[in-house]
Amino acid sequence: MQIDPFEPEQVRRLVAEFGSPLLIVDCARARNQYRKLRRALPGVDLHYALKPLPHAAIVQTVLELGGWLDLATTGEVQLARRLGVDAARCIHTHPIKRDMDIRNALDYGVRTFVADNPDEVRKFKPYAKRVSLLLRVSFRSPGAVCDLSRKFGCDPEDAVALAGLAAGLGIDVQGFSFHVGSQAADALKHVEAIEACGRLLAEARRGKLGTLDTLDIGGGFPIEYTQRTPEIGRFCAPIRHALAQLPKRLRIIAEPGRYIAGPSALGVATVMGRAKREGHWWYYLDDGLYGSYSGQLYDHARYPVEALRQGEPLLPSVLAGPTCDSIDVIAENLMLPELKAGDLVIGRAMGAYTWASASEFNFFPKATVVAVNRFSGDTGAVL
Ligand SMILES: *Cc1c(COP(=O)(O)O)cnc(C)c1O
Repeated sequence: MQIDPFEPEQVRRLVAEFGSPLLIVDCARARNQYRKLRRALPGVDLHYALKPLPHAAIVQTVLELGGWLDLATTGEVQLARRLGVDAARCIHTHPIKRDMDIRNALDYGVRTFVADNPDEVRKFKPYAKRVSLLLRVSFRSPGAVCDLSRKFGCDPEDAVALAGLAAGLGIDVQGFSFHVGSQAADALKHVEAIEACGRLLAEARRGKLGTLDTLDIGGGFPIEYTQRTPEIGRFCAPIRHALAQLPKRLRIIAEPGRYIAGPSALGVATVMGRAKREGHWWYYLDDGLYGSYSGQLYDHARYPVEALRQGEPLLPSVLAGPTCDSIDVIAENLMLPELKAGDLVIGRAMGAYTWASASEFNFFPKATVVAVNRFSGDTGAVL
């Protein structure tokens, strides 16, 4: 039997059992997201990027469905290792690493790494026979909310020379990768990058600069917050079309993070106290911008928030976090029924870049993560 842990009755039960603030991770929803993306990108191997929600429940859910992992840090490698994940299912994608990060991942058994500049390629010289590189290429999208191609990636014009450097050092180049930026508005940047990488692969193959059998199209697949977002099948249609133009025997991989983790979790906070200020109710929750709602700052996200209690009339209200900092306000002018201390407030689509970037500022603890529906009959446990 599967329960819907986002139903009010289940939310109350889980808070009674595990406390507040709580992040309820529904593995059934994570499975659904994974399957929808699989259908939208047939033949593409999905490597879940741990960064948005580095949690065992999501990692195991993805692996059970035959998925793969995208690890970027030594901490993420350690999580995969602790869970006994087969290292062959993992790639390491941070373009900038210390030697100890490389050795730690190698020791675990990871063989595919990412580099985006000559210094970083040279770091693999001592391990030349044991690794294979994806060279990350930058495709700027100045309009994107999170333009990940400013901080990382080489110019497309420099990519083949970088492959040449690796080849000269005896390091295999497996292919190219990119990340056009998270929560992409449309797939135009993906398409531009796929087409450009197709040309780079052809050129590097002519120069016999490596096995060059892989293209990694990164993440960026959008989810719905307070604004409508294209359905994933439609969003990916131009990507499918662009991929179909590439040589047949290329392995295509993607690194979805947000798309799998985001809709899979519900944030639950409790009203600690309230005050009427300038005619409006202010509700002070036990979670806020320094906690699970940190994504409102770092990730520029706006989560659909509502009170679990139904009621009339609806009044313009302010939701504030628990810390003593004035920036710690989640929402203003939100229409809510009158709430009291102890009432619950829920935030939807709070799986990605929320708990992961939360702090314990003012010593308010991060939300407890409870995973539900890890298998049929599972009604919730802290992992
Ligand atoms: C953050 C990140 C991802 C995940 O991106 P989403 O937009 O959340 O899907 C994938 N790959 C790399 C290298 C990243 O840094």
